[in-house]
Amino acid sequence: MLEFLEKSIKVTIDTSKCSECETKACIAACKKFARGMLQLKDGVPSVAYLSADEVKRRGTECLACEYECWFRGKSAIKIDVPIEGLDEYLRKRGLS
Ligand code: SF4
Repeated sequence: MLEFLEKSIKVTIDTSKCSECETKACIAACKKFARGMLQLKDGVPSVAYLSADEVKRRGTECLACEYECWFRGKSAIKIDVPIEGLDEYLRKRGLS
């Protein structure tokens, strides 16, 4: 499992699904739509070559890796995007 923080989001990648992924679409998406910080290491995506601060600095929060993984990979990426006030909004409307 790979987890890292960008400025306001948390990216979680279940790398146990990646060895069977033929497209590695997340890597191409990161290169095309962001700064290419997601690199392939031993057949799985990694940011291990960067410090946590450097990951935060380089991350563009574009969400392209998650989109591409869901549509072309193995649905291994989940990105949490905190939205201030959302929990309270849902609770007030009985939706939580
Ligand atoms: S696209 Fe998804 S399943 Fe494929 S290597 Fe990337 S994170 Fe893993």
